[in-house]
Amino acid sequence: MGRVAIVTGGTRGIGRAICEHLRDSGYRVAANYAGNTEAANRFHEETGIPVFRFDVSDFGECEAGVAKVSRELGPVEVLVNNAGITRDGTMKRMTYDHWEEVIHTNLTSCYNMCKVVWESMLDRGFGRIVNVGSINGQAGQYGQVNYAAAKSGIHGFTKALAQEGAPKGITVNAIAPGYVDTDMVRAVPHEVLQKIISRIPVGRLGKAEDIARGVMFLIDDNAGFVTGATLSINGGQHMY
Ligand code: NDP
Repeated sequence: MGRVAIVTGGTRGIGRAICEHLRDSGYRVAANYAGNTEAANRFHEETGIPVFRFDVSDFGECEAGVAKVSRELGPVEVLVNNAGITRDGTMKRMTYDHWEEVIHTNLTSCYNMCKVVWESMLDRGFGRIVNVGSINGQAGQYGQVNYAAAKSGIHGFTKALAQEGAPKGITVNAIAPGYVDTDMVRAVPHEVLQKIISRIPVGRLGKAEDIARGVMFLIDDNAGFVTGATLSINGGQHMY
């Protein structure tokens, strides 16, 4: 039987592509989501992958959610921290709620989920963790102090936890996607998006599958020598 993998925010966008790649490679996959039950049900019907609703920004919900996944599928050996949101606004307009919501959903969630699976990964002497950061955590982005801070935090978190996991058979890596064609990016105004695309050397937005393929590389059983790394998948945008 394949290893058990959980993908947070697995029912839409990048997470969905990651779930499908994992399923196609023989993993037993659990897809987490926050509250869009219609999308989650559609995802389940179309993919056959079980869905688990819990809020990754809440530690207690993560504990209960992972316990349910472990009961139904087995102990989690692969964790992809993919769930994320944006609440953009310049400093002048950004509310404390928008700051806090983005930090907790994008960054505190990584602590919550890693903390909950860590002991079991240590006991098994095997684990693969991939945290989804962003090019905007590497370079910053106008109107996104909350998101850039959270994603930048993910990159530091990844390198620190990788050092703890390295001697124990657990790798911890990050992926920093550029702009990918999902609901999150479709919400960006058309003119702004055109400007962004003009700065991407390959001349297009990324596809969710472009990111999923990177995840599959990092979680492979044979990728034990790759840890604490950040894989930039952005059509070359990081060079500009
Ligand atoms: P989408 O908005 O398309 O999907 C987000 C997913 O995350 C949904 O399944 C959603 O569940 C889930 N989610 C949101 N909040 C929570 C929560 N509190 N608890 C559990 N699940 C939650 O996002 P993308 O696919 O575009 O993005 C995926 C990741 O990639 C994010 O971390 C994002 O920051 C990052 N990223 C995306 C880029 C892009 O261009 N799209 C670029 C760089 C990074 P529900 O459906 O229930 O709301």
